[in-house]
Amino acid sequence: MQRGTRTITEPHDLIPYVWSYGMGAESTAGILRMITDPAARPETIAPDFSNLVVVIAQTGDEWSTTGKLVQHYILPLLRRHNIRLVEVARRGPAKKDGVAVLQDTRQPYQLHLDGVYKLSRENRVTGTMPQLGGVRKCSQKAKGAPQDAWRATEFGDQLYIHAIGFNVNEYIRIMRDSAYSMGGQRIPTYPIYEWGWSRQDCLDYLYRKLGAVWSKSCCRHCPYAGNRSGWPEQLARFAALPTEAAQHIIDEYVCLALNPRSGLFGPGKSLITRLHRDRATEPITLAAARMKTMPWAIYRVRRLYYAPATAARSVDCVLRGGHRTVHTTLTEVSRLADITVTKNEEIAGAPVRDGDRDTHRRLWLRRPCDETYPTQEEFYTVAPAQARDKELDGFAVAWAEHTDEALAQLERRVDMAIVAVQHAVIDTQGGRGAA
Ligand code: SF4
Repeated sequence: MQRGTRTITEPHDLIPYVWSYGMGAESTAGILRMITDPAARPETIAPDFSNLVVVIAQTGDEWSTTGKLVQHYILPLLRRHNIRLVEVARRGPAKKDGVAVLQDTRQPYQLHLDGVYKLSRENRVTGTMPQLGGVRKCSQKAKGAPQDAWRATEFGDQLYIHAIGFNVNEYIRIMRDSAYSMGGQRIPTYPIYEWGWSRQDCLDYLYRKLGAVWSKSCCRHCPYAGNRSGWPEQLARFAALPTEAAQHIIDEYVCLALNPRSGLFGPGKSLITRLHRDRATEPITLAAARMKTMPWAIYRVRRLYYAPATAARSVDCVLRGGHRTVHTTLTEVSRLADITVTKNEEIAGAPVRDGDRDTHRRLWLRRPCDETYPTQEEFYTVAPAQARDKELDGFAVAWAEHTDEALAQLERRVDMAIVAVQHAVIDTQGGRGAA
């Protein structure tokens, strides 16, 4: 890990006090109160703040409005009190890719919201979006892991206090977090919870102290920002910042093409439908215009479900071209293979009322049966060519084992149709080149 240029030494009588700063209302209120109100400051923080380290992990997808608030209100405070700020980001999708230190300074002037390897970039190449539920893997990967790695390198086997801004209603998250000691060096603490402050208390405090309405810190494509309380603010940002927002609409489009059940806010609850419903048309128009200039692909998608929502997946790009070419080609494959292309169908698992319909054009070879497992799903569809081919080891063997003669025949018909249209496309391109 790259180390910044740090010259100030820590006092010997206090262990480091590390504040994981998520840039949201809770952690901002916590930092502000500890710095400006000595009565609220724990004795474990030195009066000159020399052992306090504020650490930010950038996902690469934070709204610019959050960054502007932090740069305007918090960085000057850190500079004034000579408080150390460390900004980190992961360098790649895997742990072995390591962590970049974007800055390590007591005089910070700006943030690096773009990070290095964006969470959305990882999702883009896999044709997925961050998922609701479970243990927030996206947050662990893009925020937790880089901070853990930085602390492990920085402190080694030295004890340190680690403060996180969970609020009074986040006891379950605290229980989960407090079990994590990183080999015994980490002493977790939750000041906002200890003060008994809710998120609203933090927002009110920031408004009283700064006169600022603190916006939620989150990725632009965060699935958790679609709930009843979070959506109005998220919608306002999509409407106000169409250039930042458009790529995430494209990403969801590809994701939905590869899996109709993968709406950002759950099956049948897509971001694009919400934006249409709430008339945030500018980012949609921008996304549509961008998509027309992108390379597109015909994808073959196969899933082998071993249980509900548990599948091995294979994605192959079988043809690339402009968006008109791939749409026309899918129609031609459908004609040659004699399989109808479908559209506007119900989505499995979508709400009966107000749920999306599957607007993507699909050439289905096999639909999954949700009563018997294992079950297969296979279709061809078109979308911008963002997702990389991906197939787990052993997928081809497992797929072949479960493929019956009826499906095998359909696959052969479609294979032949694809070969025919691929030749036709090459001939056309060759003809144009010769003309
Ligand atoms: S803000 Fe949302 S999408 Fe981003 S890391 Fe956190 S949970 Fe995941």
